Amino acid sequence: MSVASQKVAEPAASLKTDLYIGGQWLPGRRAERIDVVDPSTGKLIATVADGAVEDARAAVDAAAAAAADWAATPPRRRAEVLRKAFELMTGRAEEFAQLISLENGKALPDARGEVAYAAEFFRWFSEEAVRIIGDITMAPSGANRIVVQYQPIGVAVLITPWNFPAAMATRKIAPALAAGCTCVLKPAAETPLTAFAMAALLEEAGVPKGVVNVVTTSTPGEVVSAMMADPRVRKLSFTGSTNVGRILLRGAADTVLSCSMELGGNAPFIVFDDADLDAALDGAMLAKMRNGGEACTAANRFYVQSGIFERFVEGFARRMGAMKVGPGYDEATQCGPVITPAALKKIDALVQDAVGQGAEVKVGGKPLDQDGYFYPPTVLAGVPADARIMNEEIFGPVAPVVRFETEEEAIAAANDTEYGLIAYVYTRDLARGLRVSEKVEAGMIGLNRGIASDPAAPFGGVKQSGLGREGAHHGILEFLEAKYIATNW
Ligand code: NAP
Repeated sequence: MSVASQKVAEPAASLKTDLYIGGQWLPGRRAERIDVVDPSTGKLIATVADGAVEDARAAVDAAAAAAADWAATPPRRRAEVLRKAFELMTGRAEEFAQLISLENGKALPDARGEVAYAAEFFRWFSEEAVRIIGDITMAPSGANRIVVQYQPIGVAVLITPWNFPAAMATRKIAPALAAGCTCVLKPAAETPLTAFAMAALLEEAGVPKGVVNVVTTSTPGEVVSAMMADPRVRKLSFTGSTNVGRILLRGAADTVLSCSMELGGNAPFIVFDDADLDAALDGAMLAKMRNGGEACTAANRFYVQSGIFERFVEGFARRMGAMKVGPGYDEATQCGPVITPAALKKIDALVQDAVGQGAEVKVGGKPLDQDGYFYPPTVLAGVPADARIMNEEIFGPVAPVVRFETEEEAIAAANDTEYGLIAYVYTRDLARGLRVSEKVEAGMIGLNRGIASDPAAPFGGVKQSGLGREGAHHGILEFLEAKYIATNW
């Protein structure tokens, strides 16, 4: 593990940093601006407009004004605009990757992977836009026909986190637009630059004024509440922490707002004795270290059966210790910084709590002493089940590994959480793999796979990891309402 020399990076001078409302770039009502910091150095790289409640209302006005025309735009035309967005983003993949890496800190290979994944949502939903298919059936009584058609739900408020600044936005914007909805995007304050670059790209792709609006703010609570209270807003699609999700769900009750929620996770990674060790280690590295561990799908707890435990821990610690840590935008970097000093502090507190309870540090174990917010890839063995690290999202490059004996024990441990986003299972016995997959309470399973995300698959969690699904055909349904017409002819 090492930290590469730090180069000073900066965003392109042409980058937009004001609010995007009704097709115009506006400074917003507040004089202050929001600082955007490079987590690799802790230095300021840009400031963006700080939207107030009045700006959010203006954005909803713009989205509402554009709604009828966009809903009436032929699906083929909506599809072509999204297809164009896919092509533009793919053509500018490196530019986007550098920007994401700069403001988020993730290593360039992760940033490049994110751009490809993000662009795919434009392509996938361009294909879905022309497949919004209703049905006609005869009522069982024979008295009338049941005609069902799908209509756009209305103005959507989209809220995204900082860990995938491009992909979390396209995973919402693309199905909203394909369905015929207009929207207001509120990106995370830490990573607004990618969202503004996306807005400029969508304008170039032919998205009409007001169909997509972007508002950044330092006061998300009041700004989002104001939009949710507006009766013209009919959809809230949120990706972020379970805590903020709960607040928003309470607020949504006032206007009985339709909510899609992609929330936190606490993914178990289960390795059985009969697993292919190298495949399990490859999968563990991917599931833990994609995005430096800052992913809702990140493996948070490793359960490894006794017969393979020592070899797994040794191989895992060796691979984690060999990772090159450094600024995300240095080509050699494999693990970038975490997002903020607060995140660094929280990760270290989880590690020290586990160590205080008897966990053994196999590699890593304390923050790196230098500029930027660097935590080294860390493996802990012998972590007690009630340590905080086993029960809270780590959101960093730390892997607690625990030994188990029986299948039942592994399933019980995996399910002992309020979360249920994803779980990983490694075994050569396919019957066992499917049996365990069925019993683990999660919306998604990686069975002998360390990654599951795919725009063509339904992404989402059970229990307190969320409501609804993104991607696949399911993703567009979140932005549609079924209209039933009882009729005869
Ligand atoms: P967060 O603190 O919940 O923030 C998410 C978004 O909500 C940000 O845009 C944030 O704005 C905004 N927000 C914060 N407080 C709000 C409030 N009171 N009302 C309305 N909006 C509010 O989460 P995060 O730290 O950015 O992201 C990490 C979390 O996201 C993790 O828990 C992770 O598991 C989850 N996540 C889930 C998925 C999934 O698909 N299930 C995917 C990615 C991430 P500010 O930036 O201004 O605070």
